[in-house]
Amino acid sequence: MDQPKFVIEAAEAESMAKSLGLPSVQHLLPLLVRPAQRLARPPISNFPVAAVGLGSDGRVFVGVNLEFPGLPLHHSVHAEQSLVTNLSTHRCPSLIAFAVSAAPCGHCRQFFQEQRHASSIQVLIASDSGGESDFKPLSEFLPHHFGPDDLLDDETPLLLEPHNNGLTLTPTVPDSNPETNLRSPTNGFPDKFSSDLEAAALEAANESHAPYTHCPSGAALMDCEGKLYKGSYAESAAYNPSLGPIQAALAAFVAGGGGGYERIAAAALVETRDGQIKQEESGKMMLKAICPKCELKVFHATSSGSPKSV
Ligand SMILES: [Zn+2]
Repeated sequence: MDQPKFVIEAAEAESMAKSLGLPSVQHLLPLLVRPAQRLARPPISNFPVAAVGLGSDGRVFVGVNLEFPGLPLHHSVHAEQSLVTNLSTHRCPSLIAFAVSAAPCGHCRQFFQEQRHASSIQVLIASDSGGESDFKPLSEFLPHHFGPDDLLDDETPLLLEPHNNGLTLTPTVPDSNPETNLRSPTNGFPDKFSSDLEAAALEAANESHAPYTHCPSGAALMDCEGKLYKGSYAESAAYNPSLGPIQAALAAFVAGGGGGYERIAAAALVETRDGQIKQEESGKMMLKAICPKCELKVFHATSSGSPKSV
């Protein structure tokens, strides 16, 4: 526990709980919150938040808050959103319970509604906790909720459920201007890296949750050693708590051990060309503030139909 990690494998979590004499891994979650707060990056508020969750596959996942100087506050990633992104990155199908260092804000209570059976997710606020069994269902934190049930049919896959949005990239016309040629090699990288980055962003877009606008999108970041980090757009029925693809990719970068943001060498975004909403300008603005040397390459895709469960 001295060395906080973003993912703890099921066997390791079981053994940690057993060695501490705890009846279950769920009881371990509140004990991991304080060490996990050290992973947060809140340079504006200096208020580190950590959310430690138990996935349905027995793994333990950590999410932390990320704040970005030079950008409007609504670009921040909350710890609970980072937690859900971490489950998504590791293809964990659902969140059973989580412990968090401070009460979840209203925005996050709403964001959680995008998960199937959200009302029964067990929540513990570590700062209020008198014991390790103070878990309460999310429905107690957000009664009379508004969410996917109000807008979608039962067949639509929800957040964390496998998605395939059926996107394929739209061929681009070769451009002789190297300033604007979207398929030019990634800064200083061979073409191979550029195509890997593009493929990762397309995969992230195909896995994104955009049932309200039908404008799926995904982003991929590459660090200076060529390692990739993917982020899928996650939409909210209440719109504003939606998590953009660049934010999700940044959360994956932090959780994946990417290090300082200056290590981001290249970035790609895939979205639909004629959709009602766009991520491109917001994504460019974010990267300009966070890693100014990194250009965002944008690729457009077309969808073959409604999102499908896979
Ligand atoms: Zn929040």
